[in-house]
Amino acid sequence: MSHPHNPKRPRRVTARTPAKVNVQLAVGGLRDDQFHDLANVFMAVDLHDTVTVEPAEELLVTVSGRDAHEVPADASNLAAQAAWLLGERYHRDPYVHIHIEKNIPVAGGMAGGSADGAAALLAIDALWETKASRSALLELAARMGSDVPFALYGGIALGRGRGELLTPIKPDDGGEREYHWVFALAEGGLSTPAVFHECDRLRMASGGGHLSADVPMPDPAPELLAAIRGGDTVGLGRMLAFGLNDLQEAALSLRPELRATLDAGTAAGALAGLVSGSGPTCAFLAAGEEEAVQVAKALRESGMCRDAIATRGPVPGASVEVVE
Ligand code: ATP
Repeated sequence: MSHPHNPKRPRRVTARTPAKVNVQLAVGGLRDDQFHDLANVFMAVDLHDTVTVEPAEELLVTVSGRDAHEVPADASNLAAQAAWLLGERYHRDPYVHIHIEKNIPVAGGMAGGSADGAAALLAIDALWETKASRSALLELAARMGSDVPFALYGGIALGRGRGELLTPIKPDDGGEREYHWVFALAEGGLSTPAVFHECDRLRMASGGGHLSADVPMPDPAPELLAAIRGGDTVGLGRMLAFGLNDLQEAALSLRPELRATLDAGTAAGALAGLVSGSGPTCAFLAAGEEEAVQVAKALRESGMCRDAIATRGPVPGASVEVVE
């Protein structure tokens, strides 16, 4: 299966992928396969990981950047899984050196691992010139994890099933909208399965010990979809403040100190604050760019978070940036 280097073939490919925030994360009952049905409304935001791949004698993962030491550099890394899956499908040894430049918080509820998996799929496909179709890449992405297909999509999209059955959501007038966000990074991460488990536990406790059968199928909130289709920042803020993340209570139960972070962001003028996905990153929607900069500054000064980043969304999904 070895492929001698052809001088015309790419020597190195770099791809980048955005993080996501869930503007809605509605969690249904626990299914027989132990997954939950979800209605996710994802927005890709301008905070990216970069993945560079080049041919190697073996599969190797290296990581630099923020919290690099917390990222597994072995076969469990989603970028390494991308090499295995593409190799299996196209009958190649998965021998590539994958370097991840990490910016997205690790285990922070912003789908950083999924972002790296999606970037690696695109980068390795370009390096090997396998020219996988979009639908083949999306299928491999769905096998890697529920959030990986959205990392390829970007923009704003509704995810059903486990979150992998995606429909883009766009403003009705066909124009672009820009939302300003602040992300408050927490010390340490939260395990997504642990947060789902806590969500089930809280539901059991409040439902007298019965789980799932009584939990309705999750649906996107019509007012939220209307706000996005109308490009209405204030309307979006109103819906976020209403509380559309079913994992938020579970994340707060595991990390009660996040309440103070949410309070600090809204006190600093954010339209709304919410736990991002399974947390512990907190996300704040601001009225505009200036307001976002102010909220980020106030959050940093409050000491309620490790760092605060002002950014914007939606942005496009994973893309190949450089082919050398
Ligand atoms: P999600 O929002 O999709 O639930 P998350 O953002 O909370 O995920 P990730 O940063 O994706 O969390 O990491 C979750 C776990 O996945 C990590 O603790 C780590 O063990 C593992 N992991 C595998 N590959 C990666 C990667 N490339 N980057 C970061 N973590 C990875």
